[in-house]
Amino acid sequence: QMVISPDYSFENFITGPNNQLAYAASVAVANQPGTAYNPLFIHGGVGLGKTHLLQAICQQILSANPDTNILYVSCDAFMNQFLECVQSGQMNEFRHRYRHVDVLVIDDIHFLAKRDRTQEEFFHTFNELYQSNKQIVLSSDAAPSEIPDLEDRLVSRFQWGLVTQVTKPGFETRVAILKAKARLRGIELPEDVINYIASKIDSNARELEGAFTTVQGHAALQDQPITLKLAQTALGDTLAASGPKSNQVTLQNIIDVVTEFYNVRLSDLQSRRRHKSVTEPRQVCMFLARKRTRFSLEEIGGYFGGRDHTTVMHSIRTIDDRMKKDENFGIQVNQLDAQIGNAPA
Ligand code: ADP
Ligand code: MG
Repeated sequence: QMVISPDYSFENFITGPNNQLAYAASVAVANQPGTAYNPLFIHGGVGLGKTHLLQAICQQILSANPDTNILYVSCDAFMNQFLECVQSGQMNEFRHRYRHVDVLVIDDIHFLAKRDRTQEEFFHTFNELYQSNKQIVLSSDAAPSEIPDLEDRLVSRFQWGLVTQVTKPGFETRVAILKAKARLRGIELPEDVINYIASKIDSNARELEGAFTTVQGHAALQDQPITLKLAQTALGDTLAASGPKSNQVTLQNIIDVVTEFYNVRLSDLQSRRRHKSVTEPRQVCMFLARKRTRFSLEEIGGYFGGRDHTTVMHSIRTIDDRMKKDENFGIQVNQLDAQIGNAPA
């Protein structure tokens, strides 16, 4: 069961032409689970709000009806639990767990692997829930027919309800998202800074948040208010360094490799969270950033959630020590290092 963030509510979701339909469908499903659209299938690229909508649905259903039995899991968790139960001969428990819920929400269903009977099991889970009018909500990085290796019978079932896409936000929506995030963090972002970030970052909400965090980190580090000039310097650094023409290893190169390996999000790395699932990748990022880029300890700390240079130093030492003591860990970090590529540091 994944943790639901209270911030991922319908109220905090900014709508625009890019996500209007997905939003409306999510609200409809939350208000009438099992009857409006079943399944609801939301697809789109990273950072476009799929997880946010899924969690908003869960929260809305629970607030209207706290006794609703909702199971909200990542696809990974579904697969891991399945494999564990197969291995330990606890399939009855597994089936009981998944087939006796009112609402099943699975995030990132595109990871559903074609192996070990996982798709088969999910197929039966789906059928059982669907036949008893239980709501199913799925998110994916691609439309059902575009998910590689997905069995046809699952593709067709995913299309039985409503398939809706979220796409990149336009400028207006990006501005609104930044304003909403600033309000949530209790930070005053001047209008010109908002416009600057929204015009510079045109990919997705997660990147917008990351840029905001970078700017916030720089301001905190220098103990200065957030101004346009400060924002330009803050983002100038990271964006110039991550420009496609640069042949240097960039923070983005490192983050891409590390977040993929650990299956975490940049926003987690930049957050204050201290759970091991985020501290380890965060420390590995800092270690690799120090090793492979010319950023200072202060800059690295600023990027990863506004941490000071002593924290960065401590992180680097932690990774260094562990690599010496734990051979497998050392190999793993070196492999990540190699994956980042051979650009000169
Ligand atoms: P996905 O699951 O599609 O990769 P997420 O739901 O994790 O994306 O969104 C990434 C971040 O961006 C989250 O912090 C989320 O709250 C925020 N976000 C995405 N879309 C919106 C939106 N339309 N309004 C407000 N915040 C958004
Ligand atoms: Mg997601």
